Order: sequence, then structure tokens, then C-alpha cells
Amino acid sequence: MRSVAIFCGSNTGVEPIFAEKAKEVGQFLAQKKLTLIYGGGSVGLMGVVADAALQAGGQVVGVIPKALLDGELGHQNLTQLHVVTNMHERKQKMADLADAFIALPGGPGTLEELFEQWTWGQLGYHQKPCAFLNVANYYQPLAEFVQQMKCSGFLKPAHAEMVIFSNDIHKIWQAFETYQVPQPKW
Ligand code: AMP
Repeated sequence: MRSVAIFCGSNTGVEPIFAEKAKEVGQFLAQKKLTLIYGGGSVGLMGVVADAALQAGGQVVGVIPKALLDGELGHQNLTQLHVVTNMHERKQKMADLADAFIALPGGPGTLEELFEQWTWGQLGYHQKPCAFLNVANYYQPLAEFVQQMKCSGFLKPAHAEMVIFSNDIHKIWQAFETYQVPQPKW
């Protein structure tokens, strides 16, 4: 595995722990010599994770739609910044560049991005692992809802288990290294 896409909030959230953990993730990726693939902005947790990886000597590749260059303040000091025409192109490019996907705390954009990769994974479009970094139990209600989807018969057990929920980046990394690709849905 050479690169990890991080999806995360374009805000930092109200608790300082969100930014602290984002910083830890950026440093972790740099130490592991993993290229960080992310949304290319310098706002919110996006900026925190990118700056932490860069300061620790890591490679950081951003992918940002032209229309968001102002709003998300396109980061000027990345290893590489791809400016793409729209959000679909951004998500496809990030998916192509990354070998695994992690969502840090974030809003609807973050969830949409991780859910897209999870659903592509369960359809067998790719074989890359997905995880939620469950900082301060932020994603606990979502983890419970995933169980609800499973118990209600809308999600196969193997496809529920393919997404990792953990508050520890080291544990997520271990799970990625031993990831067993499930049978595709169809
Ligand atoms: P958020 O989690 O809402 O703060 O958004 C985090 C990132 O997701 C930002 O880079 C947004 O540009 C991006 N984003 C926002 N809306 C969407 C969407 N509908 N689909 C994909 N990404 C989005």
C-alpha cells in the first residue's frame, strides 16, 4: 500500500480533539511513507491533516474542483495539486490515486465520499479497504446504523464488516494490512 485517501471536514469541529487526531493521522502517514491523497483545501481538518503530513516530511497530493479553489482555499504548498473540472472528477481521481480510504470526522461531504468508496467496494469495482476514524465516538451512531442496516437485511454481514470503525489510526492500519476482500454483492 502506497497511498491513503483521507476524507474529512472542511471545518475543524468544536472539540480540539478533532484537529489533534487529524494531525496525528497526517504524521502517521508521513512516518509510514504513505502518500496522503485528499481534497486539496487548506480549510478545516483537511488543512490540518495536510500540514501535519507535510511538516513530517510526507508526500501530499490534493485534488480540488476549480470552483472550490476559493471556498476551500486550495493549498499552495502541496507535493502536487490537481485542479479538476467538477466534484465527480475529483472523487474519481482520488479513488484512482488511493489504495485505501479513511474518513475523519466531517459533515455530509465526508460521509458521501466514504460511502461512495464503500459502495463501490461492495460492488467489486475496487478491492480497497475503507475506515472511519471514530474520534471521541463521533461516528458511534453511524456504526450502530450500519448494524441496523445489517440486521434489517439491507446489508450483507461481509459488507458491514468490510468497513472498519476505530478511534486508533494504528489499529486501522493493522486492519488494512490484513484486509480480506469480500465477495462482491452480485
Ligand atoms: P464536509 O464534510 O461537508 O465539510 O465536506 C468535506 C469535503 O467533501 C469537502 O472537500 C467538500 O468539498 C466535499 N463535498 C462536499 N459536498 C460533497 C458532495 N456532495 N459530494 C462529494 N464531496 C462533497
